Amino acid sequence: MTVINAIFESMKELVQSQRDYFLKGHTKPLKARKETLRKLYRLLLDNEQMLADAIYKDFKKSFMLTIENELSLPYGEINHMLRKLKRWTAPKYAKTNLVNFLAASRTIQIPMGVTLVIGPWNYPYMLALVPAISALAAGNTVILKPSEVTANSSAALASLINENFPKELFYVQEGGIEETTELLEQKFDKIFFTGSTEVGKIVMRAAAEHLTPVTLELGGKNPVIIMPGCNLKLAAKRLTWGKFHNNGMACVSPDQVYVHESIRELLLEEIRKNIPKIFGEDPRQSPALPRMVSEKHFKRIMSMIDPEKVVVGGESDPDELYIAPTVMDGVQPGDAVMKEEIFGPLMALISYRDLDQLVETLKVQPSPLMLYLFTGNVRKAKRLTREIPSGGAMINDVILQFVNMDTPFGGVGESGMGSYHGKAGFDAFSQQKTVIRKFNVFELFMKYPPYYTLYLPFYRTVLGKSIRNLFR
Ligand code: NAD
Repeated sequence: MTVINAIFESMKELVQSQRDYFLKGHTKPLKARKETLRKLYRLLLDNEQMLADAIYKDFKKSFMLTIENELSLPYGEINHMLRKLKRWTAPKYAKTNLVNFLAASRTIQIPMGVTLVIGPWNYPYMLALVPAISALAAGNTVILKPSEVTANSSAALASLINENFPKELFYVQEGGIEETTELLEQKFDKIFFTGSTEVGKIVMRAAAEHLTPVTLELGGKNPVIIMPGCNLKLAAKRLTWGKFHNNGMACVSPDQVYVHESIRELLLEEIRKNIPKIFGEDPRQSPALPRMVSEKHFKRIMSMIDPEKVVVGGESDPDELYIAPTVMDGVQPGDAVMKEEIFGPLMALISYRDLDQLVETLKVQPSPLMLYLFTGNVRKAKRLTREIPSGGAMINDVILQFVNMDTPFGGVGESGMGSYHGKAGFDAFSQQKTVIRKFNVFELFMKYPPYYTLYLPFYRTVLGKSIRNLFR
């Protein structure tokens, strides 16, 4: 047997074992789901140091940062699920229309079955665990494939999960393109992918073979518009923190920053002040700034930096894969930094004069994951959030929309499809099944032929709900 065949066979066995387990109903009881979630919570809590040590080896992410942005969200999701699961799994009763008289209608939430979660490297724990938690809460089995780029974190997650959960319920399958390709050959009941738009297309093509539903959490260039009349000091502070959070390696990171020309100088001055305030005089020593994850990504960011346009930062060290928080001013549409998602510690400042013109440009760009607007005119900002396509939007702050568990998070168009977090995550891994129970006491004679013209008003009004709506 060739190596590829062997991988395929082992994936097939793994998926089959999870399918058997699911079909036996082990994952469905509410009690079992809650036990799984509680166990995962305790495991993460008890192994924080081990997880932090592994991620530090990958890209020098500090212990505090690991807890703050890798583990706090999984903890939060588990707590949220434990509190709400009973309500979410309860049947939802609905009105029944006259044609179905006399009946009771309800929708029930059915787990989908065997699910596959594929994670990226930039938050190797959080972006793997949060969808997996949703899937487990919804009563599914999970095969989790973390990114091979953060190999130490991937191995840490695999040892933690695989040593403590039955393989048939929750299993971490490590590997790169080869293993993922073999996994994608299998029939899953749901695939949840977080990563690049290019690989998202590969995943969706593979899923189409089995008509497997997908949620795709992809990337994009998130625009920020800074308008005159905003609280500029606070805007600069929030933008600086958000742009360089996780060293800019976040899907929700501000990408191009459009600032009105009348406040450009002031904004720059504030950003200059804020970088040392937030990350210290020597940002290289800051525990809040991990390193670039690989030489490839280091070189990618370096190739976007135009030294002539650098106004803050620009220092780098290839031996340490370090790039200082860097700001480029006077960026033009044709510049390298405008051609792809930045995904690193580089801020591109672009001045604009005419907001309407800028909005027209943004309307026809590939849809980003997020849109950020800083303004004193909230009514105008709300209008813009409807006009400019994006997965989500924030007014007067950046990034933190991601951590609100009571609102769905997801992209649109090139930045993805479907959403998750909290209830949206539970829904992403559940089938909404409508069940109508008919009572045997009444039978609508008009449904049977012959169809007399006398019935027409009935079909037009009662069956089509009410004609009155047309004239409202
Ligand atoms: P990636 O697409 O390169 O990799 C993601 C996953 O896909 C990894 O597990 C990898 O092993 C697998 N993969 C890679 N190539 C594959 C192939 N040819 N066939 C099958 N599987 C393959 O993405 P990345 O570099 O890990 O992450 C960065 C991207 O992810 C950025 O574009 C970022 O915006 C996006 N992202 C999106 C979100 C979100 O929530 N929307 C969150 C984080 C990152």
